[in-house]
Amino acid sequence: MNRTFKYRLYPTPEQEVVLNDILWAACWLYNRALEYRRKRWQESRHSVSVYEQQRQWRDWRNEQPDDNPLRVLNASAGQRVLRRLDSAYREFLKGKRGKPRFKRRDRFNSVEYTAGDGAAIKGGRLYVQNVGDIRVRWHRRLPDGSLKSIRILRKPSGWYVCFAMEMPDSEPEPSSRPAVGIDVGIHHALALSDGTIIDSPKYLQQSLRKLRVLQRTVARRKKGSNRRRKAIHQLARQQERIASQRRDWWHKVTTWLVENYGVIAVEELNLAFMLRNGSLSRHAHDVSLGIFRELLDYKAMEAGVEIVKVNSAYTSQVCSACGCLVEKELSERVHNCPECGFTADRDVNAALNILYRSGRDRQAPTWDGGPCVA
Ligand SMILES: [Zn+2]
Repeated sequence: MNRTFKYRLYPTPEQEVVLNDILWAACWLYNRALEYRRKRWQESRHSVSVYEQQRQWRDWRNEQPDDNPLRVLNASAGQRVLRRLDSAYREFLKGKRGKPRFKRRDRFNSVEYTAGDGAAIKGGRLYVQNVGDIRVRWHRRLPDGSLKSIRILRKPSGWYVCFAMEMPDSEPEPSSRPAVGIDVGIHHALALSDGTIIDSPKYLQQSLRKLRVLQRTVARRKKGSNRRRKAIHQLARQQERIASQRRDWWHKVTTWLVENYGVIAVEELNLAFMLRNGSLSRHAHDVSLGIFRELLDYKAMEAGVEIVKVNSAYTSQVCSACGCLVEKELSERVHNCPECGFTADRDVNAALNILYRSGRDRQAPTWDGGPCVA
């Protein structure tokens, strides 16, 4: 299993200059490679392969004199930039995303090294080719495993490093705790089939309010002014803060879930769902859902908890007690069945349906052949 571990970096001002140069070179390479692909396609309908581009990059880099500013980018890190472009193309061809576009220099914020090739851990510091040894804040020990790649990341708050490790597969005892269905709710962050409701924390809502204030500040300030630039930076910091608060919170929630339940039924995420991207809040919801599922999957695996994925069609409309269809608007928060009288929070009702569909509950109700049609 692959896991990544992130740490804060403290480069000196001189090191920071070189790190920025490396990101600049990586961005330049990405854009030139994209330009070449487009040109070859327009001229002769030839689709350029990643191997062709990697060969070109290697030959080109070897021919340059040492003082060429692009040589600051490690050769294999450059290969990874080209692979990144290639996978952007593949996703585009599969219809999963839009056409790859040129990247802006200030939006190109990471570069990845093969461990031991241009970057390595050395004497408690991070060695990066052309940069030197950078100070790392080891807020927790890097676990044992084989280090695969090292990614350097520029964020509004500073520099970070992500270590991708291949961890030995553990085979834990299957958990004997009870089964639960989980609905990622509209009104609640999560609703559980046993009636537990988990809402996103107050501090996150406060941070989001602050974000809106900062967005308004940016909009009000004059374009190109120093005051606007400052506000934009503050806004970016706040966005980063929210992303990390959200992630921390999902860490806590998923840990709690795998400690308390042995089988967890969730809805199957389909592509159509991920592509449905109407509004911004919708987008935030999907991102949040992605983090939740990613963390849940690996924690469940480590804890011997089984994850069952079920078809989620109509889980919020069907009555979990008698199976009849109770249509409701998005704004209706309570499920109230006119046929059997079952009343519950709408998301809890959906969670019960998810649990029953997984077939792992021990007391699923049996429909007694009453008047409604399932
Ligand atoms: Zn009912």
